[in-house]
Amino acid sequence: MANSHEIISQPPTGSGLMDANMVASLHAVIEQAKGSASRDRVFADAGIEDLPVDDGTLSEARVARLHSLVRENWPGEASEILDMAGRVAAEVFVSQNITPKAILLLQNMPWSVSAWLVGKAARLNSAGFRGSGTFAIQTTSRLAIYHNPLAIGVTADQPICHFHAAMFEHMFQRMSHRDFVCRETACMAAGHDHCSFELTL
Ligand SMILES: [Zn+2]
Repeated sequence: MANSHEIISQPPTGSGLMDANMVASLHAVIEQAKGSASRDRVFADAGIEDLPVDDGTLSEARVARLHSLVRENWPGEASEILDMAGRVAAEVFVSQNITPKAILLLQNMPWSVSAWLVGKAARLNSAGFRGSGTFAIQTTSRLAIYHNPLAIGVTADQPICHFHAAMFEHMFQRMSHRDFVCRETACMAAGHDHCSFELTL
């Protein structure tokens, strides 16, 4: 578990923007897990006084700071909190961008085809979760984020992008095959060149 590993964070230098959903999802999940007072404290520490409106954006540096503060404040539960928030963000993404009819069509395709299309949909909308980073579909079952703003400046001994891994997993489960599992196999925070996410059935 993450609580036995040391994670050191430094503020990132990225100047890109990310979707409000990257913090709105945490706003809800932290309230559930830790209460509104703790949540308001970490949001204030991250410099996020007001939640951006639903379709708004905010600086990726603030998003990165908030995600780092979750790991620093609750090392034993951070992976679970970030995982849950990633799923909430994916659900919002699916409900806002994909019609129920399209979801039904995707679910009835061979999974290899629907997974390919889900990857395409993710890439089309990737600005919100990659900020100034670069999203790449390396194969149908391997996604990558280069210069991931949420991992740059973080030093850890294992992958830390639980939010992204859970977000991808939930997107693929909802729109392709419910048994998809996503695991981050390489992470910039752990010294790798980029963050890599493997999807398996
Ligand atoms: Zn990573």
